[in-house]
Amino acid sequence: MRGRFAPSPTGHMHLGNAWTAYLAWLQVRKAEGTMVLRIEDLDPERSRTEYIKDVMNDLAWLGLDWDEGPDVGGTYGPYCQDERRHLYQAALEKLESLGLIYPCYCTRAQLAASAPHSADGERVYPGTCRNRKAESRPAALRVRVRPGELSFEDGLRGLRKQDIARDVGDFALRRSDGVHAYQLAVVVDDAAMNISHVLRGDDLLDSTPRQLLLYQLLGLQAPAFYHVPLLVGQDGHRLSKRHGDLSLAALRRNGVRPEAIIGYLAWKAGMLITCQPITARETIELFELTKIPVTPIIVETEQFWQKSQF
Ligand code: GLU
Repeated sequence: MRGRFAPSPTGHMHLGNAWTAYLAWLQVRKAEGTMVLRIEDLDPERSRTEYIKDVMNDLAWLGLDWDEGPDVGGTYGPYCQDERRHLYQAALEKLESLGLIYPCYCTRAQLAASAPHSADGERVYPGTCRNRKAESRPAALRVRVRPGELSFEDGLRGLRKQDIARDVGDFALRRSDGVHAYQLAVVVDDAAMNISHVLRGDDLLDSTPRQLLLYQLLGLQAPAFYHVPLLVGQDGHRLSKRHGDLSLAALRRNGVRPEAIIGYLAWKAGMLITCQPITARETIELFELTKIPVTPIIVETEQFWQKSQF
């Protein structure tokens, strides 16, 4: 088994990121597989190098180690997306040679104004530039999507289906400023790094059909997917600043021990009956995928603080 944790260095790591990193780590460690740390610093405007250091420090502090990554290297490097752009470019060229991508000149305003909405409120690209002649100005690149349902079996959420053409439309693989899209990079990298198991937050569940389509078009072997529920606040919204500062840096500053955080997460993952301090390593044997709830996991901030003091 080869699994990975793929953080975007766009902010400090918080309890929510720790949760998915921890579960991905457990899945790999229980199977005695290989854990890969890949930094998804594709977006030059949002990524910062200091956050890369931060995320590595925070993971190490929690006791979550990795076998391959930007600091330790490995056979499938480099491990930062910023250094892997040539691979995304090669994938685009392959799709281009198959006639599967086209330039799109729509501005953000045009997209916002013209795009109809699918059932879940997402914008659907209406195909404006599909048959347009190429021009000599910067363009985004989109992939042509054929109508039809794509289905897959998620290791936690069961059978999932989506008609990408209907719900998303032709999606972008590169922005007009040349930045490659997450959907493309994640597929190219997971395949090139020989990742067999992808365990990540279920905010990415809806991206999975698009990624599977790219695996098909590029003739690559797709990994197995496991989407875990996100941590949410008592208001049901994804954990964020409004729920208080739950960055690992702040927790550490406030004297919270890594064992307390791991104990809390292990308890929320159904691995411990009571919330008690424990090291990540001590929980490996307790990990069972089937014990993870599939509904959003509520973090009651008061209770978290109370339980994490010892
Ligand atoms: N880089 C993405 C994020 O931080 C995760 C991508 C993935 O796990 O596929 O949300």
